[in-house]
Amino acid sequence: MTGRFAPSPTGRMHLGNVYSALLSWLSARSQGGNWLLRIEDLDPQRSHREFAEQLEDDLRWLGLTWDMGGTHDPLYVQSRRGHFYEEHLELLQQKGLTYPCYCSRADIMATQAPHESDGRVVYRGTCRPDGTPEKAEWLRRRALACPHAPATRLRVPDCDIRFTDLHYGAQSFNLARQCGDFILRRADGAWAYQLAVVVDDALMHVTEVVRGRDLLQSVPQQLYLYETLGYEAPRFGHLPLLCNTAGQRLSKRDQSLHMGILRQSFRAEEIIGRLAHHAGLIDRCEPVSAAELIPLFRWDKLPMDDIIIAG
Ligand code: GLU
Repeated sequence: MTGRFAPSPTGRMHLGNVYSALLSWLSARSQGGNWLLRIEDLDPQRSHREFAEQLEDDLRWLGLTWDMGGTHDPLYVQSRRGHFYEEHLELLQQKGLTYPCYCSRADIMATQAPHESDGRVVYRGTCRPDGTPEKAEWLRRRALACPHAPATRLRVPDCDIRFTDLHYGAQSFNLARQCGDFILRRADGAWAYQLAVVVDDALMHVTEVVRGRDLLQSVPQQLYLYETLGYEAPRFGHLPLLCNTAGQRLSKRDQSLHMGILRQSFRAEEIIGRLAHHAGLIDRCEPVSAAELIPLFRWDKLPMDDIIIAG
């Protein structure tokens, strides 16, 4: 089997990123599998190579070794993989599943309310052709009036997608109602996460995706892409999130919990031990190496609820 860690190099890793890396690594290693490191630097404004290199240094320091990938192999760096995304986009275009979208973010926000459960905005299909000459004419005029290049969206059918998460169990999402037609390539030419992640995991033969539960809601879109592109989907296992005492998911703002600060005060084994204790893998919060945890990893020990971390 092959697992992976796919960080976006937009800042120093914080404890939440380390938690995801550790558990994904443990799941792969406990099955005797490979673990690869992919750099998800698709956002040109926020991604920086120095962050990616620092992240590699932090992973090595923690004892989380990878078998393939990293900054030195362009095959595992998303900003160097545009030709793969292009090829797959063309495939979807040939199947007639995509359409140009001229909506600005402001247009989209103005025409619909965020999805009730998670605050996501579901696209209502303003630019989706419906086969009528009236809509075709309306879209033609919209294209002429649009000052910029269009984004490209994938048209999704009204169907339920069911899957079993390794940790959160049976899941069911309606693609049209809960996800909506989604972006494959942005108007500024940047590739969208959903397309890139599926193409990469498929071409890299990833068989298990372990990551934070904030991405659980992306699985239906990703499964639909696997199916339409003709690839076998990996297994998905999502993790509870690490939150600060205000109940917010840890972010770059929680300065006291980023690796730069933590490495000044703690040994790697102390950080790993604290996370392993939060994960229910050890009974007491005591120093332990990542390698020592391999035989102790089991999904059913992990908590379902998010984990509150005091700074
Ligand atoms: N690059 C994403 C992030 O850092 C993770 C994507 C994934 O694991 O599918 O949040």
